[in-house]
Amino acid sequence: SRDFDDENDPGRVRVAVRLRPRNAEDLSEADFADCVELQPELKRLKLRKNNWNSESYKFDEVFTETASQKRVYEVVAKPVVESVLSGYNGTVMAYGQTGTGKTFTLGRLGKDDASERGIMVRAVEDILSNISLADTVEVSYLQLYMESIQDLLAPEKTNIPINEDPKTGEVSLSGAVTVKVRDLDHFLQLLQIGEANRHVANTNLNTESSRSHAILMVYIRRSVPEIVEDDISSQDMKTKSNIPLVRKSKLLIVDLAGSERLDKSGSEGILLEEAKFINLSLTSLGKCINALAENSPHIPTRDSKLTRLLRDSFGGSARTSLIITIGPSSRHHAETTSTIMFGQRAM
Ligand code: ADP
Ligand code: MG
Repeated sequence: SRDFDDENDPGRVRVAVRLRPRNAEDLSEADFADCVELQPELKRLKLRKNNWNSESYKFDEVFTETASQKRVYEVVAKPVVESVLSGYNGTVMAYGQTGTGKTFTLGRLGKDDASERGIMVRAVEDILSNISLADTVEVSYLQLYMESIQDLLAPEKTNIPINEDPKTGEVSLSGAVTVKVRDLDHFLQLLQIGEANRHVANTNLNTESSRSHAILMVYIRRSVPEIVEDDISSQDMKTKSNIPLVRKSKLLIVDLAGSERLDKSGSEGILLEEAKFINLSLTSLGKCINALAENSPHIPTRDSKLTRLLRDSFGGSARTSLIITIGPSSRHHAETTSTIMFGQRAM
């Protein structure tokens, strides 16, 4: 039952770990030591506690530093995309310390090398090639910072409110721009505009993009012919079956803020207020993941903007995948440990 393809428990959050390859900084450490050992065939990760002990953790999938972008997409995101194509909502998120590969995994454009494309591009590509002419794909791209939502496709739009339909529970952002995607090139342009706006916004706010969440929302509308079970030949039914039904679903792809502790001792220039807010949405997300894992009847989504936004795309009939990203160096042992513990909350 701990499989990404498991159909029995669709509401459970699937968790994959991805290890970033050693970077120049790791390689320059005189005393470099790995703090994890991966056992991909067992879907296990061993975390070093000290020189003598390690603790082993099970996940839905474990990706070593050689895992390709394609493979990560196929295992983690494709089942969510397929479910979204058949009418359910879904979410793919990346959680981890800054510099461990969240944006690489989700947001990489792969302009020069298509094999480097991340999940956002692959998901939209997959969706575009699986819908018919009558169907539409629209996207919004947002940043959530300090409990305030800003439109990355129209950055003058700030403080966008979250609406929730009291009847259907459907979450929407009526203040945000949605753009109908013509083709993959068009989508790549939109992502690039969003990234540029994110950079400008963060420069203006004098903050780093690692402190905000980036949220891509992909809305799909498919017209499905009404299926008439019996007496298809009757004239009545024929007329009725000409009225197409529109099926709406959405995919959220969320590049979460860096999970590192933002406190006065750890990071320079961080306001306590900011630290509290950023921790609020991640803490609240952790509580919801926990509640889902425990099959709790109450998922506490009201506590933060992030979880309010995820409310109809998370748990229940929605499929959710969480990728936790880690680096290899023992120097970040504390952060890696807390990231692994966050991922374990879903298992
Ligand atoms: P984050 O978004 O978590 O802060 P990034 O995605 O920006 O981290 O990754 C930090 C750096 O590491 C980038 O230069 C990125 O290209 C590189 N990187 C991350 N993951 C991988 C990977 N799996 N393979 C190769 N390079 C990676
Ligand atoms: Mg990033």
